[in-house]
Amino acid sequence: MRYISTRGQAPALNFEDVLLAGLATDGGLYVPENLPRFTQEEIASWAGLPYHELAFRVMRPFVTGSIPDADFKKILEETYGVFAHSSVAPLRQLNGNEWVLELFHGPTLAFKDFALQLLGRLLDYVLEKRGERVVIVGATSGDTGSAAIEGCKHCENVDIFILHPHNRVSEVQRRQMTTLFGENIHNIAIEGNFDDCQEMVKASFADQGFLKGTRLVAVNSINWARIMAQIVYYFHAALQLGGPARSVSFSVPTGNFGDIFAGYLARNMGLPINQLIVATNRNDILHRFMSGNQYVKETLHATLSPSMDIMVSSNFERLLFDLHGRNGAAIAGLMDSFKQGGGFSVDQERWTEARKLFDSLAVDDAQTCETIAEVYEQTGEVLDPHTAIGVRAARECRRSLDIPMVVLGTAHPVKFPDAVEKAGVGKALQLPAHLSDLFERDERCTVLPNDLKAVQAFVSQHGNRGKPL
Ligand SMILES: *Cc1c(COP(=O)(O)O)cnc(C)c1O
Repeated sequence: MRYISTRGQAPALNFEDVLLAGLATDGGLYVPENLPRFTQEEIASWAGLPYHELAFRVMRPFVTGSIPDADFKKILEETYGVFAHSSVAPLRQLNGNEWVLELFHGPTLAFKDFALQLLGRLLDYVLEKRGERVVIVGATSGDTGSAAIEGCKHCENVDIFILHPHNRVSEVQRRQMTTLFGENIHNIAIEGNFDDCQEMVKASFADQGFLKGTRLVAVNSINWARIMAQIVYYFHAALQLGGPARSVSFSVPTGNFGDIFAGYLARNMGLPINQLIVATNRNDILHRFMSGNQYVKETLHATLSPSMDIMVSSNFERLLFDLHGRNGAAIAGLMDSFKQGGGFSVDQERWTEARKLFDSLAVDDAQTCETIAEVYEQTGEVLDPHTAIGVRAARECRRSLDIPMVVLGTAHPVKFPDAVEKAGVGKALQLPAHLSDLFERDERCTVLPNDLKAVQAFVSQHGNRGKPL
């Protein structure tokens, strides 16, 4: 399989190289040159497969030519073997034909484990083969950092540096990062905010001199492998609910359009999906596009669902590329006008095309808490605030009661106690067994000033399993 850039100028890459790439050299994002398509019979024949075997069938075409089948199978079995539930992604019924797909049974209790557990293993496999080492420098507002560290902690060939804003992530989130030790694990608390952290990561990709020739790898959702891993659970859910003979709808809490873009790909690969609902918090750039064809940056608001607090939605470019007939020059033009400070609208027919599949809703903090309380009353289930936004959007935007509606349950509620307590159901919260001693564990973390040079010096001092690069 070959991968091409959404801006049409960067060279095409194979899977291995796309795994190790950040943004394409033209500023675009990589997407498969040709999406695989499965027949209904083929999909139907996968019913009842264990998760890792389904994952093999769905993802195999994407890695062909880079990873032999037997190796890929082994990697997948290991990856999904670490999840704490034997179904890996169980469905829980909330209401008539309404379900939550629980994606929080991985080591860090959020859906990001599905992709980052795999990414760490894929990186180590490919690097071992090449005899190379890489450095990861990533920024996190909470969930990505712990999932990336958990995914890479056993990697022989990866050193990982995760920047989080000092004193601005929740205690559970911080401890999930800082209580993991290893000579290749480096937590850095920056005396600044999340944007400061992200800017440092971007600047480090732009000028990699401080790495002395070691390659820098991206772990945010611009990395294609993350999107790829998320396609699988759409198939998994649909197969449990009568698919592919019956179509299914999904409601997806999203900020960067990563998770929902995976659903869009699942549909284009042959899975009958009736409706995809974009569920956002008050940071609603995606909702403003879907409801009014305006893609315009606005100020950032801190919400009770911090993992979706974004101003710009990085993966949206991948959808725009398809909406524009995969014309890279058109996307480069749109992104340019966006960068100039404006926003943009797309041609009416393209927007109408998108609206055939997508609906959207923006949900504020008060409505989020209301939904947590409502669902608790109806079912005894405690939702995390992101999932609650998905449920709210599902209930308001649903087109048909006859078609099963699946809400992606993106995190375990213990990660976000503020929202759950505000909703009045905090007493029902409990840490899962494997994290029950989280608050007693030792922590390790380096606090650094909001200064790019200081961070880069730290990375080059410690980037080779704690020793200088
Ligand atoms: C990362 C995250 C999201 C948003 O994911 P996208 O890639 O923006 O779709 C939603 N919920 C939780 C809990 C997350 O950690």
